[in-house]
Amino acid sequence: MCANKLTMPIPEYLSEILESVRANTAGEVANYIPELKKADPNPLAIAICTVDGRIYSAGDDEVEFTMQSISKPFAYALALQECGADQVFDTVAVEPSGEAFNELSLDGSNRPMNPMINAGAIAINQLINGSDSSVEDRVEKIRKYFSELAGRELMIDRRLTESELVGADRNLSIAHMLRNYGVIDDDAHDAVLSYTLQCAIKITVRDLAVMTATLAAGGVQPITGKKLIDTKVCRLTLSVMASAGMYNEAGQWLSTVGIPAKSGVAGGLIGILPGQLGISTFSPRLNAQGNSVRGVEIFKTLSDDMGLHLMSTEPVAVHAVRTITEKDGVTTIRLQGAMNFSAGENFLHEIQQHQFEGEMVVLDLSRVITLHPMAMRMIKEGLKRIRDAGFKVAIVDPDNVLPNFTFSDGTLCAQLASERDL
Ligand code: GLN
Repeated sequence: MCANKLTMPIPEYLSEILESVRANTAGEVANYIPELKKADPNPLAIAICTVDGRIYSAGDDEVEFTMQSISKPFAYALALQECGADQVFDTVAVEPSGEAFNELSLDGSNRPMNPMINAGAIAINQLINGSDSSVEDRVEKIRKYFSELAGRELMIDRRLTESELVGADRNLSIAHMLRNYGVIDDDAHDAVLSYTLQCAIKITVRDLAVMTATLAAGGVQPITGKKLIDTKVCRLTLSVMASAGMYNEAGQWLSTVGIPAKSGVAGGLIGILPGQLGISTFSPRLNAQGNSVRGVEIFKTLSDDMGLHLMSTEPVAVHAVRTITEKDGVTTIRLQGAMNFSAGENFLHEIQQHQFEGEMVVLDLSRVITLHPMAMRMIKEGLKRIRDAGFKVAIVDPDNVLPNFTFSDGTLCAQLASERDL
């Protein structure tokens, strides 16, 4: 008997989430950029990437769209890498503005309030590759860096850039304001061109999940293993995303979803669970704050289901699977610690990799401290799939961390008082 072909329930769960929001057609595609106004409003996609580099996705996960403001945190990270925190802080502050993304505003010392609004992002873009860089060299530097973060060569949508530049009066006003106060030196048109090209880099939700997981992993790109961002730069970038990434919806976002995030007007949305996961969604219809309606809804569901809220006081666990051993035809899987979504994913991954042999599989929960409902669902689903692959399954749960032994199809899993009962 071999259970090597167990299927993974996580993509199924992600598809279920997409279906739960599909009918919501509220909101409008961004209409101030002609090319975006023409965009199909219907695509819907989600991807997550663990810090170990495992990617799960569902829906229109191969559709490319432009990063828009999702480029801002990554450009901020690049500026911090190149110039150091002192120079970056001298140019752009880190206070939430509570204002719209395209507000013409500066703080008391004439700095943009934060790097997530356009004023801050235009100033940050100018720091990259030195203030005397040509637009093309600067943008190429950014495109290359983003490509390394995504692990593939990313392209710029030049048609969209041209279309955005036709009506870029608002961003031009911001650039003139920045020049007037000495925040940038470059010509206002060049500054807006450079920033708009940065926004027009094309990605899929899978690319974004990997880029985002790099921030979650302290700067190590989880697929290539390359260290691309300093750990402190990651922390700073995540902090600014948490306080300002969702503009004038930032406070509400932090209260309800509770993770650092960034949205873009093409419909992308990213969220980061530090040390655990990068998450991205794509759905082009936007709310009044310019954030994807279905994206926000998905993140609210994920945060509740997966227990992602950073202010949650439940302990976090890694390496949930302590050991998998086999003796006399019985395979025993021992779990440990606080079981959250990441722990559930670790369990599902390990059982998928394992070459099961013999007759029976026992899941030992005696070292499990807490069991989040999401992890419980994942564990039961994994165990059910082992049983469906032809093994007898049983659970050892001396402290009753599992409230019931019923699988999703209504069948029951056997309970053993201890491993010695075998
Ligand atoms: N390029 C867009 C702009 O500057 C990005 C805005 C956004 O995604 N919120 O208006």
